[in-house]
Amino acid sequence: MLTATSPSVVTPTSIAEALAALSGAGRGAAPLAGGTWIMRSPLRREALAPAYVALGRIPELAVIAVAGNTIEIGAAVTHADLAGALAAHPEFAALRAAAGNSANPAVRSAATLGGNLCAPGFAAADLVPALLCLDATVEIAGLSGSERMSVAEFLARRVDLRPGMLLTKVILQRSLRRSVHVRLPLRKAGDYPVAIVSMAVGIDDRGCIALPRIAVGSVEATARRWTALEDALAGQTLDPARASAIARSLTAGFSGREGVEAPGWYRVQVLPALVGRAVAALASQA
Ligand SMILES: Cc1cc2nc3c(=O)[nH]c(=O)nc-3n(C[C@H](O)[C@H](O)[C@H](O)COP(=O)(O)OP(=O)(O)OC[C@H]3O[C@@H](n4cnc5c(N)ncnc54)[C@H](O)[C@@H]3O)c2cc1C
Repeated sequence: MLTATSPSVVTPTSIAEALAALSGAGRGAAPLAGGTWIMRSPLRREALAPAYVALGRIPELAVIAVAGNTIEIGAAVTHADLAGALAAHPEFAALRAAAGNSANPAVRSAATLGGNLCAPGFAAADLVPALLCLDATVEIAGLSGSERMSVAEFLARRVDLRPGMLLTKVILQRSLRRSVHVRLPLRKAGDYPVAIVSMAVGIDDRGCIALPRIAVGSVEATARRWTALEDALAGQTLDPARASAIARSLTAGFSGREGVEAPGWYRVQVLPALVGRAVAALASQA
């Protein structure tokens, strides 16, 4: 159902003001980040919120801070700025590729990290599987305080957390791991991806895969880790054909979502090829 009147927008300049506005601007106020998901609400036949709390003038939300082995990324950092900042951190290649290849340049200069994690029902969000494979943590804030949780826990709880909640930052730990983000759009750019595989691995002293993290996006309603494949690839060499064959034997756990870009069975069918491409890319990383 579409709203008949335009929503009101307030523009706070601090997180505290934003939280107060989310709680006090009447029932149903929602954060407005890049607006690239919200602006398409009518196309999805979803109602706009009665009021929005814009996040673009809150300096803390736009900061990327590196301290020791920790990188904290503000929720309002755009895909474009994130991709640029991560150029200096090769271990986060998966997140850099996710941010740098999503959508198109105009969208990437507006869409934010927080919006990608918080957009309800956005199955094809590129940053989410990349963050899952990198074991990222998110910080959320409300009037009663803030808490940190894994991305997987956030995804499971985000609908319940929603009223009055603000995602403020994402925290990553630096390590010696390699990572990669492989997506299949139907055209070269601008499409939502049909399927996504994000992978992060350590390499042990025999040259074999250690502690793999593999996440799949856009195939089901919400991105998730592919733990059966992680278990099967641990201790294997970086052999794309073998990894693809192992993945093919383990796709039964996925139930692909139907969508305008592709049917559900196709999204599942392409996963082994994406796994092979991901392992080939990992093998070529220094
Ligand atoms: C044509 C087109 C193609 C696209 N293709 C892709 C693609 O292939 N891959 C991809 O990843 N993205 C793609 N996007 C961008 C996608 O919309 C964004 O990645 C993201 O999901 C929305 O970010 P945003 O900052 O614009 O969020 P907004 O539209 O401002 O908000 C999205 C939702 O998140 C909530 N929200 C925003 N920030 C916060 C916060 N800090 N805390 C709590 N809630 C918050 C809002 O209330 C809203 O419900 C595309 C966009 C367009 C227009």
